[in-house]
Amino acid sequence: ATPTALMVGTGRGAQLGILIKGPEVLESTRRVDTVVLDKTGTVTTGRMTLQDVWAVDGVDERELLRLAGALEHASEHPVARAVAAGAAERVGELPAAERFENVPGRGVRGQVEGREVAVGRLFDSIPPQVAHAAEEAERDGRTAVVVGWDGVARGVLAVADAVKETSAEAVRELRALGLTPVLLTGDNQVVAEAVARAVGIDRVIAGVLPEDKVDVVRRLQDEGRVVAMVGDGVNDAAALAAADLGLAMGTGTDAAIEASDLTLVRGDLRVAADAIRLSRRTLATIK
Ligand code: ADP
Ligand code: MG
Repeated sequence: ATPTALMVGTGRGAQLGILIKGPEVLESTRRVDTVVLDKTGTVTTGRMTLQDVWAVDGVDERELLRLAGALEHASEHPVARAVAAGAAERVGELPAAERFENVPGRGVRGQVEGREVAVGRLFDSIPPQVAHAAEEAERDGRTAVVVGWDGVARGVLAVADAVKETSAEAVRELRALGLTPVLLTGDNQVVAEAVARAVGIDRVIAGVLPEDKVDVVRRLQDEGRVVAMVGDGVNDAAALAAADLGLAMGTGTDAAIEASDLTLVRGDLRVAADAIRLSRRTLATIK
């Protein structure tokens, strides 16, 4: 490949809103046949809102929300921000957590007003009533966040995130380029399938812990696929680095951007298709 043609491709990329780490990056996009899309913050806006609060008999819903909000207040996760904001809005001032621990891909736990509170996928067993409330939320495509204290799950918060307006068109464009889209998420299967259906993706890999996302990419590569990965989160960084082509959302975290070959400046997924089209055209010129 002549350096000049690659430099021209790089300049054109900047016009399209694509930051390219180095001209050589364009070459690795040529053989890409699979594109793995992170769900939260990539296909969806990542701006979640609290939609619903439910508690078992004998537990006050406002109390449940107050304790959950107090803990989530200390976390940066989109789910946490939705819970903390929703709690502050509905119950007013939140107590400060006495202790706080973030469990990546699962949730948060800590101490609030002397109680051992946990929020998220942190309970070994869930009473049938609580499980039922969670399933109901998930069936509607919402993320069910289980809340409890002293080892007992006592309620469910439903949070929801909107699919970006541009995502369905982006998936159509990626398919038109001959790529197979795969949705990858730490969220559960039911929610993931609801999002996949909304944007036209058939293959869903859900319930993946942050440290296991990279293994999903490697497994696809072992199947002989050449993999592009698009992500935004700290939890996507290793997978973005392992992919044949890593694309970060410019609206995402620094960790994701640093691990990637390309950055989609405006966080518009359609630009991922532009990037692949551009590199193919650039390389065709060179040939
Ligand atoms: P994604 O892969 O879609 O970006 P994550 O891996 O960050 O999502 O999180 C996976 C799941 O873990 C979330 O959908 C949520 O159910 C749960 N979770 C993560 N962080 C929290 C939190 N702070 N509070 C509650 N639940 C959480
Ligand atoms: Mg994400």
